[in-house]
Amino acid sequence: MKTLYDIIKLPYHDVPPCPYCGSHLTGRCVRMGRFSKWLIMAALRYGEHLEPLFDDNLRSAAFCRNCSYEWPEDVPVRWMSLREIKFQKYIRETDEYLELFKLLKNLKKIKKYNIFDQ
Ligand SMILES: [Zn+2]
Repeated sequence: MKTLYDIIKLPYHDVPPCPYCGSHLTGRCVRMGRFSKWLIMAALRYGEHLEPLFDDNLRSAAFCRNCSYEWPEDVPVRWMSLREIKFQKYIRETDEYLELFKLLKNLKKIKKYNIFDQ
């Protein structure tokens, strides 16, 4: 039986697996500016990995969180159901990275107040 979970579709940037190591932990490099941290966290919640793009010669690029390889890539946008996006979140481990980045953010805060130095 089809539920709303299968019927509702959203645009998703379907980055192919890493050509170097084959990992699914791949995402897009995009120009970001001042709100990069916020954008990276928002993208993880949606199931996409993002990083800032610094190379002015490239229009779009992809990267791998597993081996740090970067390559030029025109990432296709596909309409995916919420169920398909949930699967992408699973193979790309975006929820795990979201937790990790939150933890690192809190560690930074702790460091700011010198709790470890007392
Ligand atoms: Zn890789």
